[in-house]
Amino acid sequence: MGIVIDCVAIGEELMKEILEETEALKAKGIVPGIATLLVGDDFGAKMYRGQVEKFCQEAGWNYFNENPPADITEAEVIEIVKKLNANPEVSGILPLRPFPEHISDSAVINSIDVNKDIDCFHPFNMGKLALGEPTFPPATPSAVIEILDRYARQYENVEPKDFYEGAEVVVVGHSNIVGKPVAFLMLNRNATTTVCHVFTSMKGNLEKHTKGADVLVVAAGKPDLIGPDQVKEGAIVVDVGINRVKVLDENGNPVLNEKGKPMTKTVGDVSFDKVKDMVKAITPVPGGVGAVTNRMLMKNALRACKIQHGLE
Ligand code: NAD
Repeated sequence: MGIVIDCVAIGEELMKEILEETEALKAKGIVPGIATLLVGDDFGAKMYRGQVEKFCQEAGWNYFNENPPADITEAEVIEIVKKLNANPEVSGILPLRPFPEHISDSAVINSIDVNKDIDCFHPFNMGKLALGEPTFPPATPSAVIEILDRYARQYENVEPKDFYEGAEVVVVGHSNIVGKPVAFLMLNRNATTTVCHVFTSMKGNLEKHTKGADVLVVAAGKPDLIGPDQVKEGAIVVDVGINRVKVLDENGNPVLNEKGKPMTKTVGDVSFDKVKDMVKAITPVPGGVGAVTNRMLMKNALRACKIQHGLE
């Protein structure tokens, strides 16, 4: 079996570093803080909001919860952002989407102070990322890089620079929040980077590309998209996908819980059990990229805090 990368341990190490940096800032009288902006009550966004509040508490940071009702106007949302921009206790602002239909994503995102844009949504910060000089590389894509950097040092005994340069990296997924920024981060490290997406699959070309990958990063949101036929023997696989699926018995029927409802579980986009023996290394789901993502967001908030206090 290939190495199952212990992303939970990586998340814990990062948290230790975050706590140390927090203490150093507190010694200077500075407390980092994150504000979330959730418009309405989308279930997924509410879950994420709760997580951000929890990890702010764990780190002893300030947390600001902006949760206006769904019928608020776009102008009023932008006023909230301006208030957060002006608040010195808010180091980073995290808009939690989806917004209601009458509120434009870009209008809100463009109003965020670029020095508080900790998940790299603003076009200015995306532009810097594309140019290879990101201030706030977005959390999930930088979690992918952090995991691979640590894997390279620990298991391949090479510096990340040598790990990426010229490596055949294939990214499956081209969303603005995961696939594209992962590809930029890989290109910035001089990996030979191929991006596949739903149209690659529709043309029947997915396997042709993924089979050639030394490093395969999958972020499609499609359970079992990647099985043994799509992976090269000895590849390193990072599975970003998070999917809820029904638990099935050996006959393929849903397993029911005590209330008679189908039981569900969380899986990635890669058929982990079928692929794990042929790869050099793989990240699991759950307990994979997600365990590192929140920490990378906190690292960005720390950086934002330092920039705002003239410490960087
Ligand atoms: P998205 O829906 O915005 O984008 C999906 C991408 O996958 C698109 O580029 C699409 O073209 C591609 N795709 C869809 N079907 C495909 C197919 N059959 N073949 C090839 N490509 C296909 O999703 P997203 O926001 O980029 O998130 C992707 C996945 O990552 C989701 O499962 C999401 O839950 C997960 N995610 C995980 C974390 C984390 O911290 N682990 C963070 C963000 C997102």
